[in-house]
Amino acid sequence: MQNFEFYNPTKIVFGTETISRLAELVPSDARVLILYGGSSAQKNGTLDEVKSALGARTVREFGGIEPNPTYETLMRAVEQIRSEKLDFLLAVGGGSVIDGTKFVATAVNFNGDPWEILLTHGQNVEGALPFGSVLTLPATGSEMNCGAVITRSETQTKLAFLSPHVFPRFSVLDPSKTYTLPRRQIANGVVDAFVHTVEQYLTYPVGGMVQDRFAEGLLQTLIEIGPKALETPEDADVRANLMWVATMALNGLIGAGVPQDWATHMIGHELTAAHGIDHARTLAIVLPSLLNVQREQKRDKLLQYAARVWQIDSGTEDQRIDEAIRRTAQFFESLGVKTRLADYELGTEAIDNIVAQLEVHGMTKLGEHKDITPAVSRTILEGAR
Ligand code: NAP
Ligand code: FE
Repeated sequence: MQNFEFYNPTKIVFGTETISRLAELVPSDARVLILYGGSSAQKNGTLDEVKSALGARTVREFGGIEPNPTYETLMRAVEQIRSEKLDFLLAVGGGSVIDGTKFVATAVNFNGDPWEILLTHGQNVEGALPFGSVLTLPATGSEMNCGAVITRSETQTKLAFLSPHVFPRFSVLDPSKTYTLPRRQIANGVVDAFVHTVEQYLTYPVGGMVQDRFAEGLLQTLIEIGPKALETPEDADVRANLMWVATMALNGLIGAGVPQDWATHMIGHELTAAHGIDHARTLAIVLPSLLNVQREQKRDKLLQYAARVWQIDSGTEDQRIDEAIRRTAQFFESLGVKTRLADYELGTEAIDNIVAQLEVHGMTKLGEHKDITPAVSRTILEGAR
């Protein structure tokens, strides 16, 4: 196992009827900006519940944060915070709203051009406004981590940043708030959480036994509850487990002390930026092909994955690996998430462009051992046609 530091200061308040707890979680003298997305938080009553819990505090709103939140939109929130002298942010939504809030929190007092935060992947962030979140979509883990992904629409650039300053102070997770999610977003959430786990688990060399068993538990939970979350949308236990599994998949716990890959995410970000494909859907395209292309490096872990997650115990090593990759793709397809570039009518031209964009964005040494060069990314994308 590698040396590591593990630190996660986000307080989780979990369960039904917990939004009222904002009354104590948000400082009583805070001047609050509530940030939210399109219309879902208004339609399903979450926004009203939040406002009523905040009581007599000064509260302003900033709506309209889009999926794959854009720098352009978020800079308008920065202006509002500065002009109205607000000092506490509350994100109400999914990963896009929480990620957007993290960027806004760092940009408000940033010394220089805030886009630099993305260009340096967060290394130059020295502070952030305090913020909390009310999660409405289990998927990204953003509610309990210090990462965010922001898109500059002007240049179709989607970049991530990390900073210990952007852990939420708290996140309220009320599983009943997920009942209004469309099937597509539930399926996306299951796939995103699955791939987050795989990016930290299916790496080499092996050696994190504790991390592996946790990761395998998360993957098996997702395989078990993914279909149920689609079939019985108001099953409280299923939704509670879905919410917690997605949080646990990317709050630092399973990734501490083990190599991490993230190439699937980096290639996926380019597919979203160039073609507008939902984040999780890009991962479902890239991951199976990546596992196939990296099978020699990941061999031991792929065999462990086949045996422990999919109970595949017969055949040669390569047959077991093939079967594990096939079942992974089949699981995504069973949720209605397509796994081929052809499903989005993308071919050679698109692959050329994605590889070129990876180079523009410096994504030339990806994977846990930095061996996924642009040429390897091309092979992965070719394998996903
Ligand atoms: P999202 O983009 O936040 O939301 C997707 C859609 O779901 C929106 O149209 C939203 O509608 C709707 N929605 C949210 N909650 C709802 C509810 N309770 N009922 C009905 N509709 C609801 O989706 P996401 O998958 O959570 O976030 C994706 C973003 O996170 C991507 O940009 C991705 O790159 C990023 N990401 C971040 C991390 C991280 O660690 N920070 C990790 C992976 C991915 P409204 O707009 O109308 O509310
Ligand atoms: Fe993700």
